[in-house]
Amino acid sequence: EKYQSGLEKTRQSFSSKLNDLMARYRKVDEDFFEELEEVLISADVGVNTVMELVEELEMEVKRQNIKETDQLKEVISEKLVAIYMDENESIPTLNIQENELSVILFVGVNGVGKTTTIGKLAHKLKQEGKKVMLVAGDTFRAGAIEQLDVWGERVGVEVIKQSSGSDPAAVVYDGIQAAKSRGADVLICDTAGRLQNKVNLMNELSKVNRVIEREIPGAPHEVLLVLDATTGQNALSQAKVFSEATNVSGIVLTKLDGTAKGGIVLAIRKELNIPVKLVGLGEQMTDLQVFDPNAFVYGLFS
Ligand code: GDP
Repeated sequence: EKYQSGLEKTRQSFSSKLNDLMARYRKVDEDFFEELEEVLISADVGVNTVMELVEELEMEVKRQNIKETDQLKEVISEKLVAIYMDENESIPTLNIQENELSVILFVGVNGVGKTTTIGKLAHKLKQEGKKVMLVAGDTFRAGAIEQLDVWGERVGVEVIKQSSGSDPAAVVYDGIQAAKSRGADVLICDTAGRLQNKVNLMNELSKVNRVIEREIPGAPHEVLLVLDATTGQNALSQAKVFSEATNVSGIVLTKLDGTAKGGIVLAIRKELNIPVKLVGLGEQMTDLQVFDPNAFVYGLFS
């Protein structure tokens, strides 16, 4: 249901183009496939994914001897899910430990929705009965600490912070000590998102990582990279930079509700080989969902 409303823009654009295409062609032929490629690419599904999908479709059309385009809708959605996820594969979930402190590190460029996502995730985990604490590790951007504080209050979780400009690794260290002494289940750490200086970014992230690894063996349990779906292919290049700077374990794709090109989620999964674990489908506290390819594709075709 959340998927359907969150994907409204993509769904409308995609299904109107698809319906139009099917009405114009009726018969499955090469020209039809060529135009289908264009429709999928215009939804940002990604060229490689589209090529693979169309190849699969052509084989399926032969196998099932499909002649009419309107018989293809079902096959297209099935194949889209199949390309994204093997039959026996389960939906990737967050690696959160039972009965011990889990640390989640958030990385991503300013403006992608990092702070908002941290707030939403804190809310979600709190709803699941976890004791959550936040660390204001973005000490660089003006207002970042206050903004996280606002979310902390809204959700009702404690925020560990220092003054602006202080060493992020030191704040994270404080956060870990506080989380240990208060018996927290999950510690979510914000980090600065400046991409202008890649060396600084890498140094800062590796220092923060070192502190976390030293204080808690096996941590961080997740390094989540936040990407903005409305930035399309730009999101892909950000992902490449961050994967070089740190071990990204999952992606959060935000603002899917704000784009007609929601297919980007499939491109990202396919091109980067990093699981999309969460998606942002709105600005409210509850607009964060586990990424479920089936629900996603169903949301597109319903
Ligand atoms: P940060 O700089 O990465 O921390 O970004 P913010 O968390 O401040 O978010 C930037 C803007 O994006 C804010 O206006 C958020 O309300 C908005 N935003 C974040 N996630 C979503 C989402 O999933 N959907 C929509 N529509 N807006 C979002």
